[in-house]
Amino acid sequence: MARHLITSAIPYINGIKHLGNLVGSQLPADLYARFQRARGNEVLFLCATDEHGTPAELAAAKAGKPVAEYCAEMHAVQSGIADGFRLSFDHFGRSSSEQNKVLTQHFAGRLADAGLIREVSEKQVYSNTDGRFLPDRYIEGTCPNCGYDKARGDQCENCTKQLDPTDLIDPRSAISGSTDLEVRETKHLYLCQSQMKDQLEEWIDTREGWPILTTSIAKKWLTDGDGLQDRGITRDLAWGVPVKKGTEDWPGMEGKVFYVWFDAPIEYIAAAQEWVDAGKGTDWERWWRTDKGADDVRYTQFMGKDNVPFHTLSFPATILGSGEPWKLVDYIKSFNYLNYDGGQFSTSQGRGVFMDQALEILPADYWRWWLLSHAPESSDSEFTWENFQTSVNKDLADVLGNFVSRVTKFCRSKFSEAVPEGGAYGPREEALIETLSTRIRAYEAHMEAMDVRKSAGELRAIWVAGNEYLQDAAPWTTFKTDPEAAAMQIRLALNLIRLYAVLSAPFIPDASAQMMEAMQTEDDSWPDDVPGALQLLTPGHAFTVPDVTFRKISDEEREGWQEQFSGIRS
Ligand SMILES: [Zn+2]
Repeated sequence: MARHLITSAIPYINGIKHLGNLVGSQLPADLYARFQRARGNEVLFLCATDEHGTPAELAAAKAGKPVAEYCAEMHAVQSGIADGFRLSFDHFGRSSSEQNKVLTQHFAGRLADAGLIREVSEKQVYSNTDGRFLPDRYIEGTCPNCGYDKARGDQCENCTKQLDPTDLIDPRSAISGSTDLEVRETKHLYLCQSQMKDQLEEWIDTREGWPILTTSIAKKWLTDGDGLQDRGITRDLAWGVPVKKGTEDWPGMEGKVFYVWFDAPIEYIAAAQEWVDAGKGTDWERWWRTDKGADDVRYTQFMGKDNVPFHTLSFPATILGSGEPWKLVDYIKSFNYLNYDGGQFSTSQGRGVFMDQALEILPADYWRWWLLSHAPESSDSEFTWENFQTSVNKDLADVLGNFVSRVTKFCRSKFSEAVPEGGAYGPREEALIETLSTRIRAYEAHMEAMDVRKSAGELRAIWVAGNEYLQDAAPWTTFKTDPEAAAMQIRLALNLIRLYAVLSAPFIPDASAQMMEAMQTEDDSWPDDVPGALQLLTPGHAFTVPDVTFRKISDEEREGWQEQFSGIRS
């Protein structure tokens, strides 16, 4: 039995994510986790919310709530939506957890002891009214280049000129509007990534089978220009992990917190601790410490392409720099972007379909199937309502749903609600079994390789093979002349329903559960032996006719949704 540690990039806390976010990490990670479990492997599948940083503070202020309360509420919301999409996390943690605080401080202490952290004095804008330092983008003023009066301290949105806050004319706080600002000196900690360039490069070179895209992005960051840069790991904020050197105070760093980019990935480890502390597991170190049993773990991360540099360099720098035997990632599966109906999904602009809205109009399986079968793997892909309607109606309703419905209803009307007996396989059945065997082995190989679209294509072909068999064998005709042969055909087809439920569960878990229930079996064993798997339901085994497995999307509905989602979410 293999052991798989699987993590999805952790979504930021300030709001509900859109379908592009879902298909860019959480959903394909879930597909892989479900597949590995179905194969009998041991899986620990973790995700969390990323809760620190200024955007969380500002979102909380906008909602009129203390930031801790806001984050707790939003975590519950995101967790509920994840359940709605049937994301099978073993634990959905929080980067604001006590476990992550202790672990982040521990890593910082280890890095300091290794001489990989240096102090830097910087000049930063302080707002007397707000009683805090302002990050560049929270200072507004008039652009010295074009005169735009809402330019931000890091960039003018109007003329795109890169700015320093001190360039702005009449600068003011974007939080309070106050102009009572001054430049103060402040000290920050920097992680000396530049010192780790060779070690990181060596490590990347030992990664086997990484896509060229992943390694080339990492190498570019390592070698372009002056090479990998040192990076600030602290901020003058109130909300975050307090800066400490392990368990000790850090002189000069009082009142500061770690930068969110530093503590967020450490939450991958902390989430495993939270999983144990929540009573769901017993030993997290055997997943994360190579000196405590994690040597045989295969660790796979899922993320959007914009997160690749971070997971190939920054987080490994933290882990390698600690000098401790933590598990490093074995494989990174990254995704391009999903676009929405001729433009981009946008959280800030409220454009596209958001996860909560999707579940309000259709069950999770419809979305899961479309998103996964159109995953933006080799290039960006696009969501259109026409394509969604066609895919749901053809693949799910016409092919899979129709098969289940026809077979069970026919059996009930001509035989009974039990698997019929009699008859023996002929060449047509042998040919079907051969086709299925070939395709199921191909499906396994694609799933193992995390080729999501190819996997979906193979699964669809497996469904189609059953439909073609049924069409060709035509038991409703056979029944008139040779009821025994028809019984054999329907027995095979009923067994196919169970087989489809098992194979399809990683993609469409609810429909699969419904099919298993209709077949009145809990035997979800993987079809390593296809002929054997097609004889599991024996003559006399009772079943029920399920309610509609998939319904079709009408043109009126499609047009309604097109209209409903054409505007901007408020
Ligand atoms: Zn400008």
